[in-house]
Amino acid sequence: MADKRDYYEVLGVAKGASEDEIKKAYRQLAKKYHPDLNPGDKTAEEKFKEVNEAYEVLSDPDKKSRYDQFGHAGVDPSYGGGGFGGGFSGGFGDFGDINDIFSSFFGGFGGGTSTRSANPNAPRRGQDINVEATITFEQACKGAKIDVPINRMEKCTECGGTGAAAGSSADTCPDCHGSGAVKVTQRTAFGMISSQKVCPKCGGKGKVITNPCPKCHGQGRTTVSKTISVNVIPGIADGQTMNVRGQGHHGLNGGPAGDLRVAITVKPDPVFEREGFDIHIEIPVSFTQAALGDEIIVPCIDGKVKYPIPEGTQPGTIFKLKGKGVQKLNRPDRGDQYVHLTIEVPKNLNKKQKELLKEFEASTGEENYKKRKTFWEKLKDIGETDFKDWKNKFGK
Ligand SMILES: [Zn+2]
Ligand SMILES: [Zn+2]
Repeated sequence: MADKRDYYEVLGVAKGASEDEIKKAYRQLAKKYHPDLNPGDKTAEEKFKEVNEAYEVLSDPDKKSRYDQFGHAGVDPSYGGGGFGGGFSGGFGDFGDINDIFSSFFGGFGGGTSTRSANPNAPRRGQDINVEATITFEQACKGAKIDVPINRMEKCTECGGTGAAAGSSADTCPDCHGSGAVKVTQRTAFGMISSQKVCPKCGGKGKVITNPCPKCHGQGRTTVSKTISVNVIPGIADGQTMNVRGQGHHGLNGGPAGDLRVAITVKPDPVFEREGFDIHIEIPVSFTQAALGDEIIVPCIDGKVKYPIPEGTQPGTIFKLKGKGVQKLNRPDRGDQYVHLTIEVPKNLNKKQKELLKEFEASTGEENYKKRKTFWEKLKDIGETDFKDWKNKFGK
């Protein structure tokens, strides 16, 4: 192994060879040394393996760059470098000797970065649980404690997570003798190839449970229905997700639990509308209230406040109630509340009311309607002459 040939040399290409050149060289050589065409020829078989190994590295941009940088040690940890592939150093012990490049073709333990997570005995974090919860506008503004029902995988209380029935324990797997892998020989397009495979009997754990726990049937975890009390953070908005650490599915092999993720839907409020941490509300007042001024009642999320509107308040007037908005997330202050005043014009007036209004209208003059006055004055500028008739609307 120490005399491994240079992969570029094996394929007979230059160091800077292109992808196409490498592929072309490989095809020619693979054909030339193919075991089917060279039956019983040990040298050809060796060459064939060597060519495949070289191609396996040089055709993979990631491996190629490691090879270019570190040589054989960059792609084959058993070559002395160690730890590059990610698969061999992660606690597999016995598999460190696997040197059969073909194993990676056939789903074995060789190469590849996915190997690390494939160790069935490694501690694994439990999965997250995703749920949805609907809260009221007020709960979102002020925060609340809500109950969230979930089904979660929990460590079996009967066996403590081992999966073995009380008084028994897991036995060493008879098929792999505890190594977690078995050697398989496959007939492939490249000839007979032997490789390591995850032991199908124990799933790579190296142990089998002969007397499974009756409660979890050997799984070590059971599904439990729970109600989790979740603190809704004041200021949360519709569509945001709250993460409750460690309240997800329990982990495996001593790994930590996942998280509980609660996607929040906020029910729309009939009067309040939220914009960031500010609240907007539209309040209709009568035109007489607006004309005479009045003290109006303004609903806020924490009660009602009185607000004096001055004489001659115009439609579209907005006033701000400072600090009456939504609690800002993880901050001490609150947003503001904006009150939008609309003026409601009375409808369905009876005869007497109409008379009174006509009388009222007749009593008003230019001094009461500044906007109208300047509007008609503007028209005068562009040639309108009958602006003075604006008072004659009621046939006086
Ligand atoms: Zn159990
Ligand atoms: Zn096994």
